[in-house]
Amino acid sequence: MATVDWSQIFHNWGIKSVAPTDKNKQAYVLSSEQLAAVLGAGIAPSLERPAKPFEVLTPLDACKQSVKGSFYFAKRSTNANRDPEPRMGRELIRAWLQLNDSVLIGNIGQTLYAIKLDSVADMTTEEITQEIARRSPPLLVLTLALKAKAKPTSKVVKKNEFARNPHVVGAAIHRAQNTCEMPDCTAKLFQRDDGSSYLEVHHVVPLSEKGLDSLDNVAALCPNCHRQQHHSRDRIKLRRKLKNHIEFIHEPWIRLLLNKK
Ligand SMILES: [Zn+2]
Ligand SMILES: [Zn+2]
Repeated sequence: MATVDWSQIFHNWGIKSVAPTDKNKQAYVLSSEQLAAVLGAGIAPSLERPAKPFEVLTPLDACKQSVKGSFYFAKRSTNANRDPEPRMGRELIRAWLQLNDSVLIGNIGQTLYAIKLDSVADMTTEEITQEIARRSPPLLVLTLALKAKAKPTSKVVKKNEFARNPHVVGAAIHRAQNTCEMPDCTAKLFQRDDGSSYLEVHHVVPLSEKGLDSLDNVAALCPNCHRQQHHSRDRIKLRRKLKNHIEFIHEPWIRLLLNKK
């Protein structure tokens, strides 16, 4: 799991798993940090019953743009002396959240967000930020962009990186012979200073999915085909196509090289 700096993204945020009582009562109990996010978004606890619904953006959900949520304080039935509990109701907990989901509730200004952490396991902070920006109200994103300092502050990035064998990368570039290894690629490759085509080496089965850092599991791709492998809605199909192709060309290429000697 990548370490995401949520404070870079949200003004207030908190993470709490969905407990059996949350699901049974269909009322998600907010942690104090999550409560700060809801209040930070300018949402007041509803006094009506059922509580008034509002929109919660779900920018990292594959299918849903947003879910309906509500916010209210509930008296504790077991002990009336204890403080009333802040809860969220409606679709958010009735349908969207499942038992044991680890969920982040956060706000950027007046906009409230909910993210299931399972869905971001393989993403970097940058990818997550971009995805949230893409799915947030344009005006909000513009405001944040205008507020940003133009001069980037340097920071130390802590990442769980796999050590990649540079020779595997080099050999894949050689095997590609200045063409993208994705079959049927029509992209026009641009040249580097030394006249070679610019290619990026991609793990066909990602290391995070226990793929090997070996020549038969890498492909040298043009930037477009490379990004498609990661982000296209057809990526499963595209991965299979690339995998078959690499398996097909890998052995003959090695044999050819060895015979040349
Ligand atoms: Zn890649
Ligand atoms: Zn390509």
